[in-house]
Amino acid sequence: MTRFVFITGGVVSSLGKGISSAALGALLQARGFKVRLRKLDPYLNVDPGTMSPFQHGEVFVTDDGAETDLDLGHYERFTGVPARRSDNVTTGRIYSTVIARERRGDYLGATVQVIPHVTDAIKEFISDDIGDADFVLCEIGGTVGDIESLPFLEAIRQKANELGRDRAVFVHLTLLPHISSAGELKTKPTQHSVKELQSLGIQADILLCRSDREIPDEARRKIALFCNVPVECVIAAPDVGTIYEVPVVYHEQGFDVQVCKHFGIDTEVEPDLGGWRRIVETIRKPEGKVTIAVVGKYTQLPDAYKSLAEALNHGGFANNVNVDLNWIDSEIFETEDAVHHLESVEGILVPGGFGERGAEGKIAAVRFARERKVPYFGICFGMQMAVIEAARNMAGIARAGSTEFGPTPEPVVGLLTEWKRGNTVERRNVESDLGGSMRLGAYPCRMKPGTLAHEIYGADDISERHRHRYEVNINYGPRLEAAGLVFSGLSPDGVLPEIIELPDHPWFIGVQFHPELKSKPFDPHPLFKSFIQAAVERSRLV
Ligand code: GLN
Repeated sequence: MTRFVFITGGVVSSLGKGISSAALGALLQARGFKVRLRKLDPYLNVDPGTMSPFQHGEVFVTDDGAETDLDLGHYERFTGVPARRSDNVTTGRIYSTVIARERRGDYLGATVQVIPHVTDAIKEFISDDIGDADFVLCEIGGTVGDIESLPFLEAIRQKANELGRDRAVFVHLTLLPHISSAGELKTKPTQHSVKELQSLGIQADILLCRSDREIPDEARRKIALFCNVPVECVIAAPDVGTIYEVPVVYHEQGFDVQVCKHFGIDTEVEPDLGGWRRIVETIRKPEGKVTIAVVGKYTQLPDAYKSLAEALNHGGFANNVNVDLNWIDSEIFETEDAVHHLESVEGILVPGGFGERGAEGKIAAVRFARERKVPYFGICFGMQMAVIEAARNMAGIARAGSTEFGPTPEPVVGLLTEWKRGNTVERRNVESDLGGSMRLGAYPCRMKPGTLAHEIYGADDISERHRHRYEVNINYGPRLEAAGLVFSGLSPDGVLPEIIELPDHPWFIGVQFHPELKSKPFDPHPLFKSFIQAAVERSRLV
């Protein structure tokens, strides 16, 4: 029997609903339950794939090739359950489905309306593809009171009513602001937010209250009284030092116990949170520190590189060090000498990216890393820039470029027009729609024996997630190899370069895929583990 947890947010956005949902997923898992986590996003884009990282932060890609909300990354990192296309839906997708059905004539002449047609489509999504999950956790994006989220709130109200209250629980995340002149945590915004939900027919069962300090019992009693919940269901969600502390802290506050109690589940046996406690210990007592420069374009908005930052942290956990990230806008390397910005770092990483702006700066950073033998990790765009740098400065192809930036006499990186997905051939051209049309999701890669990448993975065949439209042009392979670049991983048909490396360097690897998407705190990705290890070794040298 699957139970549903609906998680809504009130008062303000950015309270960490995604992390809270992920943490509850982890706690239920630690109690032996199978969980699935999903997100309902109220915006009109069909998926976040076409949105700028400045708008939306990172786009998280699933194995089955969906471009999804970054919260799915938190879910996957905290629970280890691979996210799927069926775990993220938007208003845009719901409406496209409903309109397609209307055009097909599926509604048999009915007037198509938000209730019941849109809400039915949302409910179908909520219970689709849940397999044998004991719990499905559904996070509703946005904040209660937004016009856009109304159909979603109506759908979860209906769904809970159909399931019965013993199979559905409403968790509401709110904020208790501290007003210094009054010296008090204020409960009124929470009361208003809960009332707003009540006016939509939803009674919150559990309130998760964010605050920057301890919540006095009196405030909890007041919230319980006004919000119509038992006082033990007013859970404190204090600020913590690292997101990996959240499961332990929420457990100490009784979050998972109250969720279980709602469903009549016995909570006498303590969940095993040993792994989480150990991670927190490692973070608190590192044996050292390394600094990694991340040379990218969206550096003012760390959300744009969420999984990347976490994967670097995981690499740090594996080596018992703290990883300091030095976010550098690549454009500065186009006007100034790169040296003094990069001289003191132990590793340089160029992450995924799009468009010409800042590309020459990234190429300059690659050159610095190569020539000065600083560990270099290029991801997707970062690999493409590394190959262009090698083409220009090692293979003597002075005008090497990418067709992403317009016509170029030496298209060392070019538009992917055709590739294999299993037994089918995917085709694209310059006219193709931008949405959902990249080479997306998990693809196999065959490793070249004897290379560093092969040794790091310890496997002949691997699978990683992709999100790119351009690709290193294999026709330049012989010239690049003659100059010293090694193609350490290729698509199984030998056509698409997936991994490159430089043997005459302590650690220089570029990958066409996004390994950061699969790294977990308990299972750091081998490339990140090895990259940070190389950075630790460099820190001992200098
Ligand atoms: N812009 C490049 C491409 O489309 C790289 C994409 C990326 O880094 N994710 O191929």
